[in-house]
Amino acid sequence: MKVGIMGGTFDPIHNGHLVTAEAVRDAIDLDEVLFIPSARPPHKRDKNVTSPEHRLAMTVLATCSHPNFRVSTIEIMRTGPSYAVDTIDALKKEFGGGTEFYFILGADAALELSTWHHAQELIEKCTFIAATRQGTDIDIATVEAQFGEVGHGHILRVETPKIEISSTDIREKIKSGHSIKYLVPDSVEAYIFKEQLYYDDR
Ligand code: ATP
Ligand code: MG
Repeated sequence: MKVGIMGGTFDPIHNGHLVTAEAVRDAIDLDEVLFIPSARPPHKRDKNVTSPEHRLAMTVLATCSHPNFRVSTIEIMRTGPSYAVDTIDALKKEFGGGTEFYFILGADAALELSTWHHAQELIEKCTFIAATRQGTDIDIATVEAQFGEVGHGHILRVETPKIEISSTDIREKIKSGHSIKYLVPDSVEAYIFKEQLYYDDR
């Protein structure tokens, strides 16, 4: 069994996340992709983040029509900061041996990998997929080299379409009264309006 992990703040989840996850699933034949909304993102601790309940609801709405996409509450249910290395350990227990995990990252996140909590240990436990735009080159060799021997072969590059969407951009558009149509699934757009998310300063 090959399981992809798409972790994120998902504040909100958008079509860039979905297109990337699907392109990677298709390219490396993943049996499923687990979307894991983070509880308190370690790198965003200083900023206000929408409640886990709303972010979870939007993640479920965005992924529920895909037979191979699932959502995990593993990080949201955990108390304290959530680190990828703890998540992988818990998933390995849950899925048992014989399951390989592929941690999907945007190219931006892949370049910062060595700064992650217990990065060295993490890279020994799973394979990282750096989702990069066709034609662009992120220097995987440089990232791998930061991890020495164990890094070798544990970071793969998968070419995905470049989708210029970010959650930050969506939040700003809503605040300034601009359209977010087709940047997020319709169900997520409807949820945002219904719950009046992102209109005020948080
Ligand atoms: P924010 O603007 O708040 O940082 P974001 O859009 O970057 O939000 P995150 O939840 O931070 O979304 O990202 C989760 C993961 O999705 C990261 O690995 C990130 O690199 C990746 N990602 C985000 N946006 C895109 C995109 N447009 N295309 C491909 N990958 C993306
Ligand atoms: Mg980001």
